[in-house]
Amino acid sequence: MAFDIEMIEKVYANMAARVDKARDIVGRPLTLSEKILYSHLWEGMPNQTFTRGKDYVDFAPDRVACQDATAQMALLQFMHAGKKTVAVPTTVHCDHLILAKNGAKQDLELANKQSKEVFDFLSSVSNKYGIGFWKPGSGIIHQIVLENYAFPGGLMIGTDSHTVNAGGLGMLAIGVGGADAVDVMSGMSWELKFPKLIGVKLTGKLNGWTSPKDVILKVADILTVKGGTGAIVEYFGEGAESMSCTGKGTICNMGAEIGATTSTFGYDDSMRRYLAATGRQGVVNAADKVASYLTADAEVYANPEKYFDQLIEINLSELEPHINGPFTPDRGTPVSKMKEEAAANGWPIKVEWGLIGSCTNSSYEDMSRAASIVRQAVAHGITPKAEFGINPGSEQIRYTIERDGIIADFEKMGTKVFTNACGPCIGQWDREGADKQEKNTIVHSFNRNFSKRADGNPNTHAFVTSPEMVAALAISGRLDFNPITDTLINDKGEAVKLNPPFGDELPTKGFDVEDPGFQAPAADGSSVEVVVSPTSDRLQLLAPFEAWDGKNYTGAKLLIKAFGKCTTDHISMAGPWLRFRGHLDNISNNMLIGAENAFNGKANSVKNQLTGAYDEVPKVQRAYKAAGIPSIVVGDHNYGEGSSREHAAMEPRFLGVKAVLVKSFARIHETNLKKQGMLALTFANESDYDKIQEDDTINFLDLTEFTPGKSLTLEFVHADGTKDIISANHTYNDSQIGWFVAGSALNLIAAGKA
Ligand code: SF4
Repeated sequence: MAFDIEMIEKVYANMAARVDKARDIVGRPLTLSEKILYSHLWEGMPNQTFTRGKDYVDFAPDRVACQDATAQMALLQFMHAGKKTVAVPTTVHCDHLILAKNGAKQDLELANKQSKEVFDFLSSVSNKYGIGFWKPGSGIIHQIVLENYAFPGGLMIGTDSHTVNAGGLGMLAIGVGGADAVDVMSGMSWELKFPKLIGVKLTGKLNGWTSPKDVILKVADILTVKGGTGAIVEYFGEGAESMSCTGKGTICNMGAEIGATTSTFGYDDSMRRYLAATGRQGVVNAADKVASYLTADAEVYANPEKYFDQLIEINLSELEPHINGPFTPDRGTPVSKMKEEAAANGWPIKVEWGLIGSCTNSSYEDMSRAASIVRQAVAHGITPKAEFGINPGSEQIRYTIERDGIIADFEKMGTKVFTNACGPCIGQWDREGADKQEKNTIVHSFNRNFSKRADGNPNTHAFVTSPEMVAALAISGRLDFNPITDTLINDKGEAVKLNPPFGDELPTKGFDVEDPGFQAPAADGSSVEVVVSPTSDRLQLLAPFEAWDGKNYTGAKLLIKAFGKCTTDHISMAGPWLRFRGHLDNISNNMLIGAENAFNGKANSVKNQLTGAYDEVPKVQRAYKAAGIPSIVVGDHNYGEGSSREHAAMEPRFLGVKAVLVKSFARIHETNLKKQGMLALTFANESDYDKIQEDDTINFLDLTEFTPGKSLTLEFVHADGTKDIISANHTYNDSQIGWFVAGSALNLIAAGKA
């Protein structure tokens, strides 16, 4: 489990020379993000400048992390690549497949039974290929990475969009699809379009009820779910330095909610404190020697408008607690405005559940601040009006907060302590009564609140806020409760005002844990056997996708024209489908079932052009596949936002969809489609979306001339025989066109050609 100090020292040994050279070439002071990127070029020493938002660059990440839901497909792909061990330090974390229902002990036992086959598979593949394996119950991937592996100035990738959490320790940590992870685990470079840079200057100091969560809730409100696309967000200023390292992690974590490539902070004392408290004084010693390279050049933060593509300034002293939602994390409401907003929008005022946890907010500081609110309620004889649940971020956190009496405080209020795992954050919540689909409100400290995400009920209004605000709102039972101004009535009928939360940034007695739940890999894994049963409904070995036949696609049917938001949850739903993440055929039965059909406003109901009847999307697509007919999917803006889930690209590929044509893509999903050998296209003219009709047949006219920078032309033949010729843009470079031609990026790796 020990962090790899040799690897970190090697990164630092190269850093000064590479950053100095980059500064010379670029000819100006460098931001922190640029320092990390230029010191992790695949070619080593920089010898050219890159244009932000334009140039594709090959990088050499230091680490890879995978969670259990995405690791299944990533490892199945890695096995297919024919390597003996992973090329860079890699870990696998079992956190997504554990249902929250009765409490940690029972839930974990059940998960270990129900998902035994998957956990055994992940454990044995990890053992064989030199991968560190974190068992079910050990904690949530991003909390464990922050506690054990993240380091200032590092570059890592992870098969989960909230990998960005590690920016709290001054890394660039980026969420990718499994196919990208397979590249890096196989010893290949990793390609990324050189990101644009957004600077966020934090002045003032957090106080009272305001917490780091409110910074990112405010940023999300400003930038929206698309505002960070293709950009790294770099935070700086006195306000940044006054915040805890785990608070910085919270802010970086939710950078995923604004579509940012990643977010980061410069190396400072909060990181030194956190590294030391988590047993990594060695990293502090090494980092201190190159400290000036682990933050931006002074001139950058003195005149940030000259060096960032966009600059935002937030005064923490004036920032109010925020409650974002429902249904989208960028709809921000300051606590003082919630009464009028909730009334104006008809949001259910009664709070049914308060949930604390997720990788976003499950640090020791989070738990202790929320507990300070709970303690006040108990001491004043206030009965909580809502139910309460917590998911500690790791076994180390859970063990330490139990030792320090924090869990006992929560339990006095009837709180259910769930497993150290994702639980309700990923729909793994067996919430009583959710099947009745009643309109209701819950508040949580997670990052995402898309429809159905927590409990599968489309009428659950989920609001995202800080752990201390979750505690206050759950105790009051009201969404519009403002703890800064309002009072609660206790069991004696007295009005009680809660004091602002307080808590320790780090445990005063230090962290402690008996069994962190880590399994080190075999020194020589060559004799370790990995078994996948051919009759398993959870796991399926992969067969390569077919190479392109070199011809234009013709006679393709429109499978669906999706309207509005179409996230990876809409394309490949989580919740109960998580159990099939390692079985491509079975999980393909959820393909696009959450997407709204633009022609009838319904989800999972599209016209089968072969029969004229409406049916479920996967069934219609399987009918086209059986008939040997290609198809295409049309979508709206920011298609595929949300997560790095490559199943959202593999399922359409597996079922025979040839192209996805949309107004715009979320970055990770666009790359995932390319990796799987699909065509990811955007309308050259957005209004052409309106020309697409339900019975359309599509012919590609110039796919045979597929080259970088040249649009493709598609002919849409309508039912009445009329046609529209539509121009589609793409962002494929030469090597990505190679993936398309070979059938997938993995086909090239397996053939030893990549
Ligand atoms: Fe788990 Fe939720 Fe974090 Fe994803 S966002 S890693 S589901 S806790």
